[in-house]
Amino acid sequence: MSAPGFTYEALPVRVVFGAGRVAELPTEADRLGLDRLVVLGTPGRAEDVQLVSTLLGHRVAGHFEDARTHVPASVVQAACEKVGRLGADGCVAIGGGSVIGLGKVVARQTGLPVIAVPTTYSGSEMTPIWGITEDGRKRTGRDLRVLPRSVVYDPELTVRLPPRVTGLSGLNAIAHAMEALYAPDASPVTSLMAEEGIRALAAALPVLADEPSDLPARTLALRGSWLCGLCLGQTTMSLHHKLCHILGGTFDLPHAETHSILMPYVAAFNLPAAPAANEAMSRALGVAAPAVELAHLGARTGAAPSLGELGIAESDIDEVVRQVFSQPYANPRRLRPDEVHGLLLAALRGTPPQSPG
Ligand code: NAD
Repeated sequence: MSAPGFTYEALPVRVVFGAGRVAELPTEADRLGLDRLVVLGTPGRAEDVQLVSTLLGHRVAGHFEDARTHVPASVVQAACEKVGRLGADGCVAIGGGSVIGLGKVVARQTGLPVIAVPTTYSGSEMTPIWGITEDGRKRTGRDLRVLPRSVVYDPELTVRLPPRVTGLSGLNAIAHAMEALYAPDASPVTSLMAEEGIRALAAALPVLADEPSDLPARTLALRGSWLCGLCLGQTTMSLHHKLCHILGGTFDLPHAETHSILMPYVAAFNLPAAPAANEAMSRALGVAAPAVELAHLGARTGAAPSLGELGIAESDIDEVVRQVFSQPYANPRRLRPDEVHGLLLAALRGTPPQSPG
């Protein structure tokens, strides 16, 4: 039996992982020779910015705490102006995908390095993918300059992440790994990371739904999100991410919730056409029917049960289908407009996903 060939390229990110290790931020800054850092944060998370600033002490030149979802261009401009005015030599982004996304675009525009301290499971810190929203359109691309130079994962920072954000963000991470398993550029390394990432999150999320401050479960979930983020950064995503991108960009649907609603439907659609990915998902989730289990995990997060509840109407589906077919991209199952329409209609109505997967 001959195994298929593959190409694998590791990304140059340093990872510091463990409870309490945010205290090592000064060492990370010193390794990079940074001593005029701007700390980036999100509104409402002043305590995170304060913690990092206290730890970094004299290495901090200032703060910018106005990161917003989907990285609006006006916010990027304000952040870059502040970074320039303060003569900063780098940024520390602490928070979820919104603030890390801002740090990445600031890095792209200023050339300054970023240290990331993730407090959700979005995985953005592990990818060279940047995104910016202007005039109602989100542009994305890949650029190695946006990859954080160092990432400090400290599960203690995540214990107060609300249960709903925890679940939705964790399912967003699982979606990266699911699509990595059937990606055209999957490799033995990404497949191992994907399976282990899903296993870790699927074990941790139900525990965290009942006990959000359980530190071992927080540690397991953060490890899973790191692995799933690596998968996102190292492979090409398919139908699921395409649909979420369209629904977020054109209809302004919430990012992680859209992922959690759609994933069981895409799993039911794609996994029968990707037997190795289906087996890996089944092993990782410990079930014979991954799509059904993903729906169960979604229901436990308190996510809306259907796209309809997020405000999508049946008359919107044609536009989504049009955009899906406007650019060719990889998918393990050949796409037909009527089938994609049917998938979206089921997700819109909340009809249980049907498939052997
Ligand atoms: P987010 O950053 O908006 O955070 C979600 C919520 O959690 C916010 O209200 C935030 O204030 C809160 N929060 C964060 N940390 C907390 C903590 N420790 N305690 C309590 N509350 C906390 O959302 P997200 O789901 O992390 O990220 C979504 C964004 O990331 C989207 O814009 C998406 O496009 C982007 N993303 C990008 C990539 C990439 O590779 N470029 C990958 C995944 C997601």
